[in-house]
Amino acid sequence: MNGTHRPLAPSIHPSSVFNFTDLDDLESYFTGSDQVYLYARDGHPNADDLASRLARLEHADWASITSSGMSSIAAVFLGLLGPGRRIVASRWLYGKTIVLIRDLESRGTQVSWFTPDCPEDLERELEQPAHLVLVETVSNPLVRVADIGRLGNICQTAGVPLAVDNTFATPIFARPLEMGASIVIESLTKLANGHSDATLGLVAGHSSLKARIHPFISLYGLNSSPFDCWLTSRGLETLELRVKAAESNACQLATFLAGQQGVEAVHHPSLPGHPDHSLTVRTMPMGSCNIVAFELAGGRGGAQAFIRGCQEFTLSPSLGHTGTTLSYPAGTSHRGLSASEREAEGIGPGLLRVSTGIESFEIIQAGFAKGMLAVNQAR
Ligand code: PLP
Repeated sequence: MNGTHRPLAPSIHPSSVFNFTDLDDLESYFTGSDQVYLYARDGHPNADDLASRLARLEHADWASITSSGMSSIAAVFLGLLGPGRRIVASRWLYGKTIVLIRDLESRGTQVSWFTPDCPEDLERELEQPAHLVLVETVSNPLVRVADIGRLGNICQTAGVPLAVDNTFATPIFARPLEMGASIVIESLTKLANGHSDATLGLVAGHSSLKARIHPFISLYGLNSSPFDCWLTSRGLETLELRVKAAESNACQLATFLAGQQGVEAVHHPSLPGHPDHSLTVRTMPMGSCNIVAFELAGGRGGAQAFIRGCQEFTLSPSLGHTGTTLSYPAGTSHRGLSASEREAEGIGPGLLRVSTGIESFEIIQAGFAKGMLAVNQAR
């Protein structure tokens, strides 16, 4: 096509299969030719477009797109773990990731847990052989921040790859590969897509690990949909604008909630009282995340009163939408943990998790003021 008439927007290629002229052409696909596609489960143009955009953002020399955040974690586990192998995982993880690690354990992988604010614990754990360490840059749901530089050093000294789930921070606020991680994982379903209309995951890192992880995407059918990749490539064009605006709203909301009667605790790294505040200022100077978690007086009843009173924002158990949404960790993201396990991690029945959107802060504040009124009336 003449350069002046090429479409400005990328095209969608929904084809599940690609054509070959003859058997030599087919054979040359396997021996490395210009023909890069054969079957969409192995790869397709929209996944490659999205992968190359994300590799640039994450400063990765390899990136692969999968069908969801969970499948990107599964691809890493399939590649690096298995019976007789060992993972050392953060205690502060998305609930389903914890459930997946327990499932691996039941199939013969050895599992040890550590708390990222005690790097000495990780050092001790890595005195025994291990094959993977997993943390979240900013944890779900209590937004604890990991010192990726320090943990990365420990892992490099022990010769164990560090995988970092960067879903909450996004590459706008943290690039784990530059800080010492070997693998970065992201649920693109969240902020990267940004419009709650696609389900996808990213796994990226040093090219040395590609051959150990990428083949499992086709083998186990963890591949992405072309349309979801196309939507998410479009979402990425506004990623920086969106996450910066949403993070600024989260900082203001955290301060607002901290002064409210009926709020027992507020979690956001921008608050001076947050346990990782100074680490965040030092390691994430551009901001941390658009997630605020807050504990309401009255437990589940308090949370229920808030959700019913704050009609502007819906209970939508995800995050990263353009508009502000609410989620209930005890009933969704961390439902797979027992009540006592949740309690031990500080995820109580009155905890709500907010994903701030890009509305003006006045709209958010007005909605939350209504929610708090309902909480205090119900007490
Ligand atoms: N990682 C984190 C931190 C998450 O919050 C989630 C989902 O909420 C996932 C991974 C899983 O992503 P997906 O829902 O795209 O499978």
